[in-house]
Amino acid sequence: MKKEFAVIGLGRFGGSICNELAEQGMQVMAIDINEERVNKFAAVASHAVCADTTDEKVLKSLGIRNFDHVIVAIGDDIQASILTTLMLKELGVKKVSAKAQNDYHEKVLRKIGADHVVHPERDMGKRIAHNMVSNNVLDYLELSDEHSIAEVVASEKLGGNSIIDLNIRARHGINIVAIKRGNDILVSPQADELIRAGDILIVIGADSDINRFERKAL
Ligand code: ADP
Repeated sequence: MKKEFAVIGLGRFGGSICNELAEQGMQVMAIDINEERVNKFAAVASHAVCADTTDEKVLKSLGIRNFDHVIVAIGDDIQASILTTLMLKELGVKKVSAKAQNDYHEKVLRKIGADHVVHPERDMGKRIAHNMVSNNVLDYLELSDEHSIAEVVASEKLGGNSIIDLNIRARHGINIVAIKRGNDILVSPQADELIRAGDILIVIGADSDINRFERKAL
């Protein structure tokens, strides 16, 4: 059975989620209070509906509780975002993801039961800052407050050594989960795999260990 999604709020963020879900062949209902925005998604979404989701009757009439996952992407109207999220959880929606505008908003969304809170501007800012600080870091994905996955480019210094020679796990506390080499990707590389300068190492570990690895080993 295909998962059914509903996206509430079709601004830049919600709109992009809607497009991507549709692109991936998912069933998605697109909802916005603004008719123009709804019309823009009529061809993309399985259904596009003009509705005010702060009205409980409206949410019920949409059969919202039957959706597997509802994304609340209401932007500036924090009150509408909070009220919508609260009612979705009260109506028994299994999974609700909500976009937070700031830290207070995030705190409230979590308190009222949002299953997943995203903070796109802040998270993207962090990611980009990481890439800027180190020339070797291509991408960075936060797993928790303290753990991440990072893509780092292997330097000349690392080239020619095997993973076991470098003793990365013991010396740096991180694991190489994959190596990207040109168009190939080696997932779970063997310990005797020789690293080449220019390889992209996908590493997982504590932020402090990843930072140390970037500074010392690369
Ligand atoms: P972004 O920063 O992602 O572009 P916007 O603030 O532009 O966010 O988009 C939020 C969307 O949420 C707007 O299209 C707006 O019409 C919609 N929206 C706001 N309040 C409600 C509501 N009560 N019910 C449904 N949609 C709403």
